Amino acid sequence: MDTMTWMDVALQKANDSLKVGEVPVGCLFVYNNKLIALGNNTVNETRNATRHAEINCIDQVLEFCKVNNLDYKKVFPDIDVIVTVEPCIMCTSALYQLQVRNITYGCANDRFGGCTTVLEIPKIYNSETKIISGVKGDIAMILLKEFYKGTNPNAPESKVKKEHKPKKCPNIESI
Ligand SMILES: [Zn+2]
Repeated sequence: MDTMTWMDVALQKANDSLKVGEVPVGCLFVYNNKLIALGNNTVNETRNATRHAEINCIDQVLEFCKVNNLDYKKVFPDIDVIVTVEPCIMCTSALYQLQVRNITYGCANDRFGGCTTVLEIPKIYNSETKIISGVKGDIAMILLKEFYKGTNPNAPESKVKKEHKPKKCPNIESI
């Protein structure tokens, strides 16, 4: 399958995520043209703020390596990551740490994007990882907007509103 088709699968997963009241981000990992991980955010379900789609996929790959008796350090550099939204700072760092081959994403992540939008994590690493952006990003953005609008009956509306107020960092004073 080509990148566009894989992105359709990731978008489908993002849509599933929206339906269960999670942030609509879908992610998949392809290894030797085979889908070995498919995940979405499970932050609300697990009550764990680090359970992003990419992290859930990383765990699936580790399990795949265990079952197939493969060294994960050799598997990750042959993995292509397809994700509907630009990975956040945490996830971009994790993917660079594992040295995945490519990261292809849809829309930019204006609040936490770690590939380029908020912070350029790739600059920190001396890595071969390639980033491709803007693949079906308009659809990914529509899903995100739907979530934050609170039109999804499962989305915790009060929480959404609270989280989206611009916050001031108490530890930094401006001069
Ligand atoms: Zn993330």
